[in-house]
Amino acid sequence: MTALTLTNVCKSFGNVEVLKDINLTVEEGEFVVFVGPSGCGKSTLLRVIAGLEDATSGTVDIGGTVMNHIPPAKRGIAMVFQSYALYPHLTVRDNMALGLKQEKQPKTVIDERVGKAVEMLDLGAYVDRRPSDLSGGQRQRVAIGRAIVREPKLFLFDEPLSNLDAALRMNTRIEIAELHRTLSASMIYVTHDQTEAMTLADKIVVLRDGQVEQVGSPMELYNNPANQFVAGFLGSPA
Ligand code: ADP
Ligand code: MG
Repeated sequence: MTALTLTNVCKSFGNVEVLKDINLTVEEGEFVVFVGPSGCGKSTLLRVIAGLEDATSGTVDIGGTVMNHIPPAKRGIAMVFQSYALYPHLTVRDNMALGLKQEKQPKTVIDERVGKAVEMLDLGAYVDRRPSDLSGGQRQRVAIGRAIVREPKLFLFDEPLSNLDAALRMNTRIEIAELHRTLSASMIYVTHDQTEAMTLADKIVVLRDGQVEQVGSPMELYNNPANQFVAGFLGSPA
């Protein structure tokens, strides 16, 4: 079974067509990276998968179920944003627990899952702090933790490292790769960083102007870019 199948997905805002007939599959456990210039529709595509926007037409199938009209919380996915989107008045622990409380999970389950994520992300010293008392890298780990505790089948990351400095970016990238191995979940990851794309991806999807330009493994795209546009994104010599 595929983790995600998009069939003829289109999305317009008013009369502006932002996604144009997107067809795409993500296999179970696969790490898929979306790259493409600013404004090409990467975030919109993630939001359509997450259910934060409705597709104008086409189907969004997650784990074998058509999810077009299913609300975000019931799609078995979790999303991590560039801006962290943490609640400033809640502690680290409560930020991570909030989604599970909303799902009405029992306290024992919440404590167990949050405890596991805290350990995995090395946040033990920070659980009682508020986001304003954390560094950017720590905040992003909390945001990742908040996604992990939901135990999603599919993670969506929208440029999660863009606000971090170079050293933290590398550390967090390695952490995300480790999480992918540990959790054996499927991941979709948007970035404009070539190193992130080449090192994290099983499969890279190059988007251009709301369409899929090329799909392939990092090596396939590097060695055989379909055109100058793809080559430009991956630093290959076409
Ligand atoms: P990317 O993430 O690749 O930079 P986006 O998906 O954010 O691109 O945006 C793609 C296009 O859709 C842009 O032209 C943007 O202005 C437009 N867009 C995104 N969200 C909305 C919205 N809610 N209403 C109108 N236009 C939007
Ligand atoms: Mg974006």
